[in-house]
Amino acid sequence: MALIDELKDRGGNQCELCASKGELKMYEVPPISTGGVDGTLLACDTCVSQIENPETTEPNHWRCLNDSMWSEYRAVKVVAWRMLNRLKKEGWPQDLLDMMYLEDEELRRK
Ligand SMILES: [Zn+2]
Repeated sequence: MALIDELKDRGGNQCELCASKGELKMYEVPPISTGGVDGTLLACDTCVSQIENPETTEPNHWRCLNDSMWSEYRAVKVVAWRMLNRLKKEGWPQDLLDMMYLEDEELRRK
């Protein structure tokens, strides 16, 4: 099965971050991506463009992390963790970070 189909299967054909069913694409999470399903997530255009362009980040869009930070998938958790860190001056992301536990130190690398 193609990677994109595996991801669609895993994520229920919606953005793994905000659950949007819009235009979905693969986002390879640096540096953990090995080109496989574990290092990649399926995300909508809005999420991917904000991940890649920090100056366009809209804090309220990322309230979705309240749910997606509990994903069982490593790629999703890593991106959630990074975005919460980017936004923590908003206040609420810090509360979520406090609840989040990443056991793998590697994930904390930028
Ligand atoms: Zn999204």
